[in-house]
Amino acid sequence: MAQADLHTVAALERLGTETAFEVLARAKKLEDEGRDIINLGIGQPDFTTPENIVEAAIKALKDGHHGYTPANGILPLREAVAEDIANRREVTVDPDHIVIMPGGKVTMFFAILMFGEPGAEIIYPNPGFPIYESVINFSGAKAVPMPLLEENDFAFSADTVLGLITPKTRLIILNSPSNPTGGAFPMAEVDKLVAGLEAHPHVAVMSDEIYDRILYDGREHVCFLKYESLRDRLILLNGWSKTYAMTGWRLGYSVWPEKLVEPVTRLAINCHSCVNAATQFAGIEALKGPQDRVDEMVAAFTNRRQVIQQELNQIPGFRCIEPGGAFYAFPNIEGTGLSAQELQNKLLNEAGIATISGTSFGSYGEGYIRFSYANSEENIRAAAKRIKDVL
Ligand code: PLP
Repeated sequence: MAQADLHTVAALERLGTETAFEVLARAKKLEDEGRDIINLGIGQPDFTTPENIVEAAIKALKDGHHGYTPANGILPLREAVAEDIANRREVTVDPDHIVIMPGGKVTMFFAILMFGEPGAEIIYPNPGFPIYESVINFSGAKAVPMPLLEENDFAFSADTVLGLITPKTRLIILNSPSNPTGGAFPMAEVDKLVAGLEAHPHVAVMSDEIYDRILYDGREHVCFLKYESLRDRLILLNGWSKTYAMTGWRLGYSVWPEKLVEPVTRLAINCHSCVNAATQFAGIEALKGPQDRVDEMVAAFTNRRQVIQQELNQIPGFRCIEPGGAFYAFPNIEGTGLSAQELQNKLLNEAGIATISGTSFGSYGEGYIRFSYANSEENIRAAAKRIKDVL
């Protein structure tokens, strides 16, 4: 029988991945071999989806919502999103500018594919969510890193970002609260960036606000929708995964400038047709139903954040600033004398602790390692003890 001789596109070689899924698989394998693993690697809440949301999905199925929906999502869900944005951010959004997506990731995939091609440049956070850089490279555009530095509390510098813009820049990606650093952008810096962008009308902005409800110490979330001057070139990414512990449901939403609504809907029709119908009904209940489970989850993260920061700072060679949002701590580990990748491997293999090396989030992540504290206080303390023992 002839061996297959396949010719896939060169772009596939440029497509990266999200190490969290690889670490999850390795941790699972070690667990199957009988090892006791504490998983501080994967970025998902360790809570289940609130019962009222689950019930809404079951009801939708029983009510017969089994077919395709409009590609941009059912109107009651888009209206619920617009209402939620109006209540929470005091901004009016036309439900027809909202597109429901199968998760937050699809918004970034479509936005980057819309702007990225050889000859174009896209500015992205580094360290940042790895899929940004991966898809920019896949598109053939030049990935231009926006450094997020510890000395800046992992916020961007508006002057630095504005200095990176060239006539070839098509898109700037921003993410606050941020994965992997837990940094939250100060409003003054965002104001400065937005003012500076007035001089660059050829540049679109994608603001990834998937962690907008997970903020600490009374910080106010800076929603990019509030900047009128950006509204005709802003793509907002948000969703249910983190806020409502719904990572496996695959439900996200996006807000697009009028001009991009038709092309993004066409991309959706070419790709996934629409989001699972019952899940969309669950999304309505999440937004309109009681929010106490969200508050409880954020309260739990607030305590764990304190515990993990204290514990990490007691490990020789570690230095951890206080995260402002999300559920990640990103300590500097240069003092251990190990590279981020070496430390990630050592912690998994010798201590049974799953973490993600900073370099999985870009070159500026060297010297750092990401801990997800979406895990119990008890496990966080046990993990810190094991790390101290191993180091
Ligand atoms: N954006 C950021 C910054 C994330 O950290 C994640 C998930 O980890 C996503 C988007 C993707 O969210 P979803 O699971 O809804 O696709």
